[in-house]
Amino acid sequence: MVREVARCPYCGRVSARLDDAGPELVMAPERDGGAGCRHLAFLSVGLEAVDPGGVRDDGRTRVWLWVRGKGLRLVPPGKIDYLVERVDLIACQSPVVGEAPPATEYRIGGMTAGDRERDRPGTGEFPLRAAAGRRLVGIFDGWGLYSTSPDALVEEVRRRVVRHDGGRAAGGREAGSRGRSSAVR
Ligand SMILES: [Zn+2]
Repeated sequence: MVREVARCPYCGRVSARLDDAGPELVMAPERDGGAGCRHLAFLSVGLEAVDPGGVRDDGRTRVWLWVRGKGLRLVPPGKIDYLVERVDLIACQSPVVGEAPPATEYRIGGMTAGDRERDRPGTGEFPLRAAAGRRLVGIFDGWGLYSTSPDALVEEVRRRVVRHDGGRAAGGREAGSRGRSSAVR
């Protein structure tokens, strides 16, 4: 099934769609240097595949990050990506203790899996088509950071990643999970 990831809070355009059968993330056609609209700065999308015992299947789990000026990339599951982490913290309105939200004006589009379930059951958590009869559930988080100055927002968030995580970023320590879908477990 093809599912909407996020809409721009400024102009209402859809930024991307998730095809959960692939799974594949399809960005909206590029326009004015961004995807779908000129306001998108970051888009972070996770489709976590979980078996009936609650164990994540890394082979089927997908994490994507789209960055204005850089495009879309697939992030290996189970590794912390500091830019993804930073974008997710801002989008979930839980910045690092002692840190103010970005000074660049921004708005958030998209929802956590838990919010999608509350909004419309079956849109945040749904069965995935699995090979060899394995039952897997997909947990779908996806959001974007939008701004009327998206380039400035990208710069500001990137600076924070370098400042706070520059020394550790090379290590790539293991992540237990992305930690943002706990509301639906
Ligand atoms: Zn827009």
